[in-house]
Amino acid sequence: AKVAGRNGVTLFEAGMLAEAERKLTLERDFAAAMENGELSMYLQLQIDHLRMPVGAELLMRWQRPDGSFVPPDVFIPAAESSGLIYPLGQWVLRQACEYWLRLDRAGLAVPLSINVSPLQFRQPEFVEQVCAVLVETGAPASQLIFEVTEGLLVSDLNETIARMHELAQMGIRFSIDDFGTGYSNLAYLKKMPLYELKIDKSFIRDTPGDVNGTAIVQSILAMADHLGLRVVAEGVETDQQASFLAANRKPAMQGFLFSRPAPLEEFMTQMRSWRAR
Ligand code: C2E
Ligand code: CA
Ligand code: CA
Ligand code: CA
Repeated sequence: AKVAGRNGVTLFEAGMLAEAERKLTLERDFAAAMENGELSMYLQLQIDHLRMPVGAELLMRWQRPDGSFVPPDVFIPAAESSGLIYPLGQWVLRQACEYWLRLDRAGLAVPLSINVSPLQFRQPEFVEQVCAVLVETGAPASQLIFEVTEGLLVSDLNETIARMHELAQMGIRFSIDDFGTGYSNLAYLKKMPLYELKIDKSFIRDTPGDVNGTAIVQSILAMADHLGLRVVAEGVETDQQASFLAANRKPAMQGFLFSRPAPLEEFMTQMRSWRAR
């Protein structure tokens, strides 16, 4: 209900204003953070059922000068609404290539996964830009996995699929992130050049205790097997979850049970200790 406040501005309108102001402040702060080098990429290990490192996901971190972190779930939407996601996405791509080359020189190369915003993916120049970064850095396309969400499917499906094929031809692999949380029918799975599904952590959280949650995870695993897709289970936090997954088609796993996202140097230390086990 609208309640009249000062100057005839309703509380409802005042609330919207406050919200818009908060958003603008965040967008401005984020732009400054980019300028000031407050952003960095962390890496989180993925391991197989034998507990060998098989990959890593790059996750962005924004650390303010006071040491506090702003969560990506807060600043990525601000980057998207302000358009900064475009230069940011380019930067992430370049970071991924440079990190891969550094890992390779250290004998620790694994394929690296990056999160690609639907906005970035839909940019007309996207394929060209990916090409350019690969050529400039010399990183192999085959070592990059682009994580996209079902949000990519809402518009221009044919265009999206054509673009994916173009990138796949170059060697880029694709993963559907947060699989099962979008509202889509599954027909797209047949049309896209996919490599992998990532089971969302909200489903993994329910295993093995919850009967229905467990059934969902088992169904996704079975379907992926039939479609010939690799699976990564994300958000693995307990030994029970890991043994459940090891007993059910053995997907790759990513989660706090194995490693926290870490800066490159620390990630390399984590890799070495996992390999030495
Ligand atoms: P996401 O792609 O689903 O990333 C996985 C999230 O789960 C990460 O959160 C990671 O830190 C967290 N996580 C990993 N293991 C566990 C676990 O065992 N338990 C729990 N509870 N969480 C775990 P983070 O880093 O806060 O990122 C949140 C989201 O922000 C990401 O979700 C992704 O959608 C977005 N994001 C992060 N980095 C980037 C980026 O470089 N570009 C874009 N476009 N989006 C990004
Ligand atoms: Ca992801
Ligand atoms: Ca995810
Ligand atoms: Ca997510």
